[in-house]
Amino acid sequence: MKTMTCKQLGGPCDLGHTGESADDVINAQDKHLKEAVKAGDESHQAARQEMKFRWMHPKKSMGWYNDTKAAFAALPEC
Ligand SMILES: [Zn+2]
Repeated sequence: MKTMTCKQLGGPCDLGHTGESADDVINAQDKHLKEAVKAGDESHQAARQEMKFRWMHPKKSMGWYNDTKAAFAALPEC
C-alpha cells in the first residue's frame, strides 16, 4: 500500500489517500474532491474541474496520468 496526498494529485490539501495502485488513489482523490466541493469547500473547486476534464478527455490527460503513475511507483511502500 502507498499513500499520495490530495496535493500530490493536484488538490489543495494534505489529506492522504492510500491504495494498491495509482488508479486507487486517483479514484479516492476524485471522490474526495467531489465530497469537498459538495460540502462547500471552494479551495477544491479548481482541482475538481481539472479532474472532471481528465475523465472527459482521457487522451489529453495521458501526460498527467502517466506522471501520477510514475510518482506513485516511486513512492515507498507503507
Ligand atoms: Zn483535498
